[in-house]
Amino acid sequence: MDASGRFVARHVATLPKSGIRDFFAIVSQMKDAVTLGIGEPDFVTPYHIREAAIASLEKGRTSYTDNRGTQQFREEISRYVAKNYGPEYNPDTEILGTIGVSEALDILLRATLNPGDKVLYHEPCYVSYAPSVTLCHAEAIPVRTIAADQFALDPAALRAAWQPGCKMLILNFPTNPTGGTAERAKLEAIAKFAIEKDLLVASDEIYSELTFEGDHVSIASLPGMRERTVFLHGFSKGFAMTGFRIGYACGPAAVIDGMLKVHQYAIMCAPIMSQEAAVEALRNGRDSMLHMRDKYRERRDFIVRRFNELGLNCHLPRGAFYAFPDITSTGLDSMTFARKLLEEQKVAVVPGTAFGSAGAGFCRASFSTSYERIHEAGERIARFLEALPRR
Ligand code: PMP
Repeated sequence: MDASGRFVARHVATLPKSGIRDFFAIVSQMKDAVTLGIGEPDFVTPYHIREAAIASLEKGRTSYTDNRGTQQFREEISRYVAKNYGPEYNPDTEILGTIGVSEALDILLRATLNPGDKVLYHEPCYVSYAPSVTLCHAEAIPVRTIAADQFALDPAALRAAWQPGCKMLILNFPTNPTGGTAERAKLEAIAKFAIEKDLLVASDEIYSELTFEGDHVSIASLPGMRERTVFLHGFSKGFAMTGFRIGYACGPAAVIDGMLKVHQYAIMCAPIMSQEAAVEALRNGRDSMLHMRDKYRERRDFIVRRFNELGLNCHLPRGAFYAFPDITSTGLDSMTFARKLLEEQKVAVVPGTAFGSAGAGFCRASFSTSYERIHEAGERIARFLEALPRR
């Protein structure tokens, strides 16, 4: 590193880089690697959605839009959310189009946290939550979830983790990396707790279309929650639109207004062609989405069965596209397991510890890759385990 490091702020200098990116920089250089490390759909965006983006360009719609997003985009979001999740949001005051859930979460944290505020979140979790809280000079407080409980958030564990100064709770169901979901009864208990402690809830529901078992319930739809929940959603996963960088936040007007200020100064607006593609996804994307979901479910059933046959205990993820097997039977820690598996059999998985210390003893294997690749990975993992010294 050069001497310009002295200009970097202390809280940024001490922030670790995402564990996943480093790992996959190595994988991308490797010939014949089978990667189960990818955190995005292997499907190309459905053509009718791409066509809407093409039409936007062709017609010369290349300008800024309203900071909140076009009226049409916000009206479609309002309809889609009411129909599929329950709560009704006013497109003029309660909906904000963003650069994916990534931006939505970042500006929500920046708009609401004061230095020293505390934020509860469940772990293992998406890599950006704790660092994003740290970047706001606030403190992230993890709540551990466990495999025996299908990685659902236990309301009792949440209560035990609570401390004075907690202002927000981040939820993510279905969960990256565990595929955990929340049943209505558990969600009701969590909602009751949030009301008792006057918490603002950030609900990242980016994987909600990819729910394989039971119905997805949004905490925003539970009594007393709409006014304290910001519903975060996007198009990256359910509609295979990661590169479009488009998402949205729905919530009570004053919080959305605070977010709008940060968004106005930092971003201005989401790209117009992505907004227009997203309108098409919301209007006509359901069949393509269901087709992809069915494919993920087939692959999930296969990979989970294979891990269990190989002696790597794996619960059935109820949503998202990740298996999260327990690798402790190998006697290796998560990082060593992932490293050796890559070196010896060229299969890439993500060490569970990349998702927080609660991920120790696990690895994340994405099934957003073809059945053939997953099958090949299964064969290679079998060979890898066979060659490990007997314990
Ligand atoms: N939340 C979760 C749980 C994720 O897994 C991801 C992407 N991997 C994101 C948010 C970011 O999504 P987007 O592409 O909408 O920014």
